[in-house]
Amino acid sequence: MDHFSLRSFLEDLSLGTAAFSVAGVQEKPNPMLGRPSSGNLEAKASAAANVMAIAAHPGDAFFARGAAVALTVRLGGQSVFLSLSLGGRGSSTIAPTRYGALQREAAQSAACLLGAQAEFLNYPDGEIRAGEEAKFAAYDLIRRYKPNVILTHWRGSWHKDHVACYEIVKDAVFYAGLPALTREHAAHNVPKLYFTTGTRRTTPAVPAGNSCGAGSP
Ligand SMILES: [Zn+2]
Repeated sequence: MDHFSLRSFLEDLSLGTAAFSVAGVQEKPNPMLGRPSSGNLEAKASAAANVMAIAAHPGDAFFARGAAVALTVRLGGQSVFLSLSLGGRGSSTIAPTRYGALQREAAQSAACLLGAQAEFLNYPDGEIRAGEEAKFAAYDLIRRYKPNVILTHWRGSWHKDHVACYEIVKDAVFYAGLPALTREHAAHNVPKLYFTTGTRRTTPAVPAGNSCGAGSP
C-alpha cells in the first residue's frame, strides 16, 4: 500500500493524526503505525469509524483484517466480522460439521475479545457461489450494521471462495445503497471498500477461560 492509500485507509479508521504523519508533511513517518501498544492513540482519533470485515471463512477476517478492527474498536469505533461460511472443510482430521462449529466458536470468542461482533452465513465451505441469494443476505447485514468501511478479499485471491466473496460484497454494497430496494433496513451507502490479500490457514485457537465465553476445543 503506498503512502496515499495508507493515509486514506488510516483516516477511514479514524486515525486522523496518524494519517497526517504518514503523509510526511510535518512529521516523519511513524514506524509503529498499526501497533497501538504505546503512545496515546485515543488522542489522535478523529471521528469514530464503523468497520465491517467480510470474509469467506472465519479465520480470514482475523488474520488479514483483525488489526484494523482492533484499532477501530480501541479508538471508540465499532466493528463486525461477517463470515460467509463456517470453514468446515478446513481440517483433514476433524469432520466438517464439528470443525465448522469449532471455527464458529473460535471466531465468536476472538471477535468478543477484540470488542467486535460476529455474524455468519452458513454457505458450504469450498462451494460459496456469488449468487443473488448470498448478495442479498450480505446486503441485509450491511444495511443493518451501516459500516463506513468494508474490508474484504481481493478478486485475485488464489481461493475460489475468496473470489466469490469479492463478487458478493461488491454487489451487496451496490444493492445496499439503492433506496428503491426496500427490505427490512433502510438503504445505506458504504463510502469505502478495501481489499486484502495474503491469508493462510491455521488451526483455530481460543484462549481457555476468557471472559467471552468460549473455551478450547
Ligand atoms: Zn479463506
